[in-house]
Amino acid sequence: MNNDFEILLVEDSRTQALKFQLMLENHGYHIHVAQNGIEAMNMLLSNHFSIVVTDWVMPEMDGSELCRAIRQHDFGGYIYIILLTARDSKTDIIEGLKAGADDYLTKPVDDMELIARLSTAERIITLEKALRKRNREIALLSITDPLTRIFNRGYINDHLPIAFKRAVRYKQPLSVIISDIDHFKAVNDTHGHQAGDKVLIEFAAALKETLRTDLDWVARYGGEEFLIVLPETCLAGAKTVAERLRELVAGLPIDTGSQTISITASFGIATLSNEADTKSLNMDDLVKEADRCLYEAKEKGRNQTIGISL
Ligand code: GH3
Ligand code: MG
Ligand code: MG
Ligand code: MG
Repeated sequence: MNNDFEILLVEDSRTQALKFQLMLENHGYHIHVAQNGIEAMNMLLSNHFSIVVTDWVMPEMDGSELCRAIRQHDFGGYIYIILLTARDSKTDIIEGLKAGADDYLTKPVDDMELIARLSTAERIITLEKALRKRNREIALLSITDPLTRIFNRGYINDHLPIAFKRAVRYKQPLSVIISDIDHFKAVNDTHGHQAGDKVLIEFAAALKETLRTDLDWVARYGGEEFLIVLPETCLAGAKTVAERLRELVAGLPIDTGSQTISITASFGIATLSNEADTKSLNMDDLVKEADRCLYEAKEKGRNQTIGISL
């Protein structure tokens, strides 16, 4: 049974529509009927149909106009169109295909031929859906760090400029925190690289879970360094967040498999304040200042937060 496919049948003759509907339903298809192109477009806009079987001659908007209208619109998925035409002159067929039809049948339609053409449509639609799903997965992978499953550097490169521009445009503060695990090399040296990886995974998960609003985000900046972006957040707010994270991490027992270890991390914050001179400051300055504060936190003994408002 072809239950996955909802088919939109566009046919102005009620008797012909009913005849097709009964025949196709007998073959397991789910059929919805529109009486002309305009009604069909309205139905396509409110429900997703991946297959449209449309008559050629109809009032208001005919089959080829409907094809053109469908092709001009992005429905988020491909719509396979089969045109049914009483005419079978070459020029009409060419016009229909040019208008965007994928296939055509001339009336009177042979039932088994229509069923066969529909199975071609299903094959194409199934392929297209698989491709679309794979593209979504690839797009997600391209911004995901494979070890920690949080955003990667690529995401930072795409989204930090957006956050910066938005802050400047709406004159809102923006805070950037860089967090670096303390003496992480020693974790690797003492417990092994796999234990180090486990620490990174748990550390990233703790950062991600602690960020509350859906505006805030965290990404892996480099080896054991993470970048946290807090839009609409002033330095005091960012300090609260960083301190909460710092305390959480310091108190977090990390099970490496063979033993439980604890780590600390240092945090550097730079905030673009409301009063910042955004003509002479750019995004790189913000990251550089956060990095400088992080360095200072390391110098002062690690496991602490230092921030600056620009
Ligand atoms: P500090 O407190 O000054 O930050 O000292 P640190 O030891 O944390 O800093 P350092 O930059 O000397 O060492 C970072 C270490 O992180 C070295 C590198 O091998 C390790 N590292 C980077 N990426 C990974 C990774 O994906 N997995 C593991 N296990 N280790 C990593
Ligand atoms: Mg008609
Ligand atoms: Mg580092
Ligand atoms: Mg470190």
